[in-house]
Amino acid sequence: MDLDTEVLIVGGGLSGLAVAWWLAQQGVAAEIWESADAPGGLIGTQQAGGYTMERAASLMLNFRPEVSALLAQSGLNERRLALRADLPRFVLQGGALARVPMRAGALLVAPFWSRAGRLRMLAEPLVPRGGGEHESASAFVTRRLGREALEKIFEPLLASTFGCDPDLAPARAVLPRLTALEDRYGSIALAVCARKLRRESLPASEMFSFEGGMQALVDALAASAGVRLRTRCTALAIAGDSRGWLVEGRSAQGDARVCARHVVLSVPAAEAGALLGGADPELARLVAGIDYAPLAVAHFGFDRTAFGAALDGMGFLAPRDEGRTLLGCQWTSSVFGDRAPPGKVLLSAYLGGARASHIASWGEAEIAAAALRELTPVLRLRGMPELARVVQHRRGLPLYHGAHLQRAQRVRERLTLRPGLHLAANYLDGVSTRDRITSGCAIARAVCSHLRGALGAGGAAGATRSGVATA
Ligand SMILES: Cc1cc2nc3c(=O)[nH]c(=O)nc-3n(C[C@H](O)[C@H](O)[C@H](O)COP(=O)(O)OP(=O)(O)OC[C@H]3O[C@@H](n4cnc5c(N)ncnc54)[C@H](O)[C@@H]3O)c2cc1C
Repeated sequence: MDLDTEVLIVGGGLSGLAVAWWLAQQGVAAEIWESADAPGGLIGTQQAGGYTMERAASLMLNFRPEVSALLAQSGLNERRLALRADLPRFVLQGGALARVPMRAGALLVAPFWSRAGRLRMLAEPLVPRGGGEHESASAFVTRRLGREALEKIFEPLLASTFGCDPDLAPARAVLPRLTALEDRYGSIALAVCARKLRRESLPASEMFSFEGGMQALVDALAASAGVRLRTRCTALAIAGDSRGWLVEGRSAQGDARVCARHVVLSVPAAEAGALLGGADPELARLVAGIDYAPLAVAHFGFDRTAFGAALDGMGFLAPRDEGRTLLGCQWTSSVFGDRAPPGKVLLSAYLGGARASHIASWGEAEIAAAALRELTPVLRLRGMPELARVVQHRRGLPLYHGAHLQRAQRVRERLTLRPGLHLAANYLDGVSTRDRITSGCAIARAVCSHLRGALGAGGAAGATRSGVATA
């Protein structure tokens, strides 16, 4: 097998673009095959009637240095739109909006909690360690903080960020930072106090999007020097031998075929499973067995006069005991002023997840109608929107349910038997845009270190062709 390229990335969503961008920073020019006619995958921004609407991700929550580095080096910092830190957030309680104080002290004294619920949270430092590696997120939160904290805060938060059911998702998969605090300090509250005493600050976190929307992120990565994007090119099969990987596919120009030393699969689990079937049936089975939850985003443009409630805030989350199809609603034009024309309001409602997976069989009209029906009494809406746009993702987010961590571990073990094969995907190590960029950085590092090893062992010709900077 003669090598055509050092690295081929299959899938030009954020995961694949991030790997390519990090490789380019090391002087490795990777080729990306993307089956759609534009990069971005789930991420994309649509403009209509002066409104700016996201297909999926609408903002980033970052506390990772890798993401800060990427934004600084790619020039994206100049286009960043930060969220006001004091922007109020709400949850539904008995059908009405209840404000969630964002500081721990204020949260504890807020009228938000019942007396018993507040006392139960205050007892957190007295709760012994426990639970074990299979404990669900619901069991973990209930054990440490009580049922009320789960139902009012954690359940809607996890349902909206992971699309998951916290009864089925292991705490270590979806709340890794909190379980790590319990492991180290025995209590979340004690961990916060200990860190304060030692003047150890938690990594600063910030929330932001970009001028023009999240599209700016994927466009900037795709346009970077060293990223060679081939759109309308679909991988159909991969096969490997000791020298590298042969990827065959179809492009707008006809059949496509590339031999690469490294192949990074950045496609959803079902597609990865299909591609891997011939190369490693066991790996294919493990990956293809990951379930997804459907998600839909319903955007509505309204005249400001249509609102009976002030929309000063980020929006609200809807806990499951409120019995809604809605996971929550972002008051998009209150968060980022440029997302709606003057005098207008853009709302973005999120529906579905594991809790309302029946929306997978709904059409756009049904989704828009359900969202409006549920939003109208909460926001005291008067009249109909002047714009409605629904984006459906029948496979929205991978579910980190059941034995997900064990499955992910078996996938990693299996990959060690397939040198040069990498999976950069949100079904393994985090669904957020932050995780996609951070994981892309780790994969690019592994590829570069292997290429440098190959260079040292006489692989100079191939490595030089793709421009590996240093040995
Ligand atoms: C509704 C919704 C809202 C979200 N909101 C947020 C948010 O606010 N903040 C946040 O941080 N995260 C959010 N996320 C999560 C985040 O957007 C995703 O996890 C992330 O964008 C996934 O990127 P990816 O590259 O792994 O996958 P994808 O975006 O799915 O990309 C995979 C790519 O592979 C391509 N492909 C598939 N098969 C092939 C093939 N055979 N050959 C070539 N190409 C192929 C596809 O066309 C696609 O472009 C949200 C997700 C959803 C669904």
